[in-house]
Amino acid sequence: MIVVASSNGNVGIQASMDVLKSGGSALDAVEAGIRLVEANPDDHTVGYNGYPNLLGELELDASIMDGSTLETGAVAGMKDYVYSISVARKVMETLPHVLLVGDGAERFAAEMGFEIEPEMLTNEMKDFWEERLKRDMPDDVFDNIKDQPDLSRWVTLASDAEKAKSTVNFIVQDKDGNIASGVSTSGWAWKYPGRVGDSPIIGAGNYADNRYGACACTGMGEMAIRASTSHSLVFYLKMGLSLHEASTRTMQDLNDLQGRFISGMNLVALDQAGNHTGFTSQKGKTYIYQTDDMDTFVETEREFVAIKHRWG
Ligand code: ASP
Repeated sequence: MIVVASSNGNVGIQASMDVLKSGGSALDAVEAGIRLVEANPDDHTVGYNGYPNLLGELELDASIMDGSTLETGAVAGMKDYVYSISVARKVMETLPHVLLVGDGAERFAAEMGFEIEPEMLTNEMKDFWEERLKRDMPDDVFDNIKDQPDLSRWVTLASDAEKAKSTVNFIVQDKDGNIASGVSTSGWAWKYPGRVGDSPIIGAGNYADNRYGACACTGMGEMAIRASTSHSLVFYLKMGLSLHEASTRTMQDLNDLQGRFISGMNLVALDQAGNHTGFTSQKGKTYIYQTDDMDTFVETEREFVAIKHRWG
């Protein structure tokens, strides 16, 4: 049994392993680990108190995948509910759909009995949003931001392409060999309202198939969507490549993307035999893992593959 996660999963990895040790499924363990990250007010890239969009609203994306059935569930642009990974799992288990967005996701969360959180942002976060936007925006624009007819022009000014992004990834293999993956995020800080990243897009932000393995991503979601990054890695495993070869090829594929908005990408992956890895295009990044014979998790460096950065 093993749990692999992005490093900000450190607040949830023990709970995830505890679920496995008490006989829980890979899906249960993914959900348990991610919920703790979503509830962590100090993680500003996932769940409660994440970085809001340009309008100061927190919009959450999440997805979960069951590698034993290839079933998935996801929510995107969901406001007012902390545990988007649990709502995503309910979508998978309850509906004939795989992805709910915005109002529909919130309505479904209420129907499923999830508790609404009236204040998703702390006052410090609201002040930070205002202070950050006002570094670029005149006060009169900021004061009328909700009614700006050309909000799109502020996206590239206000987006901290490198700094204000992250996401949590969990990949788990349970005692029966089943693999599940999950991702949760608040997306880019100061994103255009309604922007959806890779995290709720199956095949982009994560993908799991018991027969081969799983992959999950953090980084510039638009790139993972364009290259189907998580599905690509699992497909390379299916084609017989080793985990290392599959991960390297998947990262290299991102260099084929043309256009202006090319930035950083990171992935974690696990193969069916329980081998794990982490890759990054930004040197020095780490990921974490814990097997059932370990008392605690280990944080280890990701392998670097260069992606040529082009921005704006
Ligand atoms: N992948 C996330 C997104 O694009 C953000 C990140 O992981 O940095 O929404």
